Amino acid sequence: MDFDNDLTNYSRLKKKSAPCPECSLQVNEGEEKCHHCGYSFSAVDFELFDIYARKQRRKGIKKGIIIFPIVMFLFYLVFLLLEY
Ligand SMILES: [Zn+2]
Repeated sequence: MDFDNDLTNYSRLKKKSAPCPECSLQVNEGEEKCHHCGYSFSAVDFELFDIYARKQRRKGIKKGIIIFPIVMFLFYLVFLLLEY
């Protein structure tokens, strides 16, 4: 698993950014223009940003559901080892 990539994805979620439709570099939500290529976003683009952000968030939740039991199990193993 690429942990670094996970972390950057998480901070992107918090900042709510999405790829520019013109140059596909990351732009922050609330900006009217891409600061990379100067492309002005339309209402459709904002809609796409919203869909993208929602999809990313859902992906994050799914990951959390998978990772949480694994982490709990590891804690359980550590406690078992400490007992002996
Ligand atoms: Zn751009």
